[in-house]
Amino acid sequence: MNLHIPFDNSYARLPAQLFSKHAPTSVAAPRLVAFNRALAEQLGITGDADDDTLAMIFSGNTLPPGAEPLAQLYAGHQFGNWNPQLGDGRAILLGEAKGYDIQLKGSGPTPYARRGDGRAWLGPVLREYVVSEAMHALGIPTTRALAAVETGEDVYRESALPGAVLTRVASSHLRVGTFQILAARQDLSGLKALFEHAISRHYPDAQTPTDFLRAVIDKQAQLIAAWMSVGFIHGVMNTDNCAISGETIDYGPCAYMDTYHPETVFSSIDRQGRYAFSNQPQIIVWNMAQLATALIPLMPDAEAAVEEFTSAVHAMPKKIEGYWLNRFGAKIGLTSELQGDAELISDVLSLMAQDRLDFTNSFKALSGDSPVDHFTNRNAFLAWETRWRTRLAKETTAPTETMDAANPVLIPRNHQIEQMIQSAVQGDYDPFHRLMQAYSAPFEPNEAYSDLRKPPEEAERVRATFCG
Ligand code: AMP
Ligand code: MG
Ligand code: MG
Repeated sequence: MNLHIPFDNSYARLPAQLFSKHAPTSVAAPRLVAFNRALAEQLGITGDADDDTLAMIFSGNTLPPGAEPLAQLYAGHQFGNWNPQLGDGRAILLGEAKGYDIQLKGSGPTPYARRGDGRAWLGPVLREYVVSEAMHALGIPTTRALAAVETGEDVYRESALPGAVLTRVASSHLRVGTFQILAARQDLSGLKALFEHAISRHYPDAQTPTDFLRAVIDKQAQLIAAWMSVGFIHGVMNTDNCAISGETIDYGPCAYMDTYHPETVFSSIDRQGRYAFSNQPQIIVWNMAQLATALIPLMPDAEAAVEEFTSAVHAMPKKIEGYWLNRFGAKIGLTSELQGDAELISDVLSLMAQDRLDFTNSFKALSGDSPVDHFTNRNAFLAWETRWRTRLAKETTAPTETMDAANPVLIPRNHQIEQMIQSAVQGDYDPFHRLMQAYSAPFEPNEAYSDLRKPPEEAERVRATFCG
């Protein structure tokens, strides 16, 4: 074995009811598709394993020394409905290196698989690989992708599709739903152990459940504002997909918007638009209220707990607004905050929505030569521009600098991802590698990738996304 992973598995030392020890299921013919060497280095992974060895390890066929494979237990509210037991149905935690979880996704059914096959097909695996790494390059907290392996086996969805395994890295996979399941089962000792574990991994300064709740709320408020600033729609913000760490997790039906409209929804299963772009701030508050409810048993006095937690949750919308203002302010060149800024931002967003303009390119156009040429309703834009320039005059920082750092040139556009997947299924991985390269520096204009700045043609447009 030419690969050393410095495992230290703190989750495996938690009370046994929090997980099921379970090994990955071997696959027929693993073939390495991608390995993230920079991330491997950060995790302290050493050795000179060849591609075949890496494929064996990151398919689950060979267990690296020190791994203690397990599936994590959790529950969650899915689209607002309580599901008393979920858990890793197709994911297996190998262990932790440098404090980060290393988890295989698609490596066979676990005791929590319910009716699922425990597998993943190549499309969603590549999608998550590309989109999560792009999210990281955009500077937004997220799970990462360490490896992707083709299994050499078919996976059956509507048709037979090539199977694959993704290796996901996260500062932990603790979710709101992990707390919820223990609270629902009135498992106080389990809940206490989980709480101590979460504090030590993520919020060592928190002394009390209230401190902890406030810290998670703050991280999640920042995350939502960051998502919105790049036009990201998570698509399935169930409480089991809401990480305690504040990282983006679960790249199922997510999408970066091309055309801006606040009510945009991509997920094929989100029929009511619960997780629409502009609903994300409300939903995260709801999710934090569910976390608060699950933490009540940890407090000596339930009544006092309700009071403290309620005030923490009620403070969240203002927090999100503040982070939103920072993020969107920067997108129009503002570093300070003055009365009327929120309105100025909302007004330019309304112009974009009315004319169905491209979110990313419209913000980029603002720092270009003649922004008005980008807008359909020229008069309305010119009126807005006058107000904007007046406001910019009160800034001490050069607005273009602020805007260049806040407005990416490239985002992973749905149609580009879909085309990349289609090529990969045909055995052509060039588009995958090209997108990985392009999205790794999303704020830097690069002639070589100017085609990737184009919104989709009507025929290319992706209208729905799926959980995979
Ligand atoms: P998600 O909608 O991705 O958050 O998944 C919800 C639940 O379904 C989680 O408990 C997953 O582990 C489980 N799940 C999703 N797909 C599969 C699958 N193919 N096999 C087994 N479990 C699955
Ligand atoms: Mg999930
Ligand atoms: Mg998922």
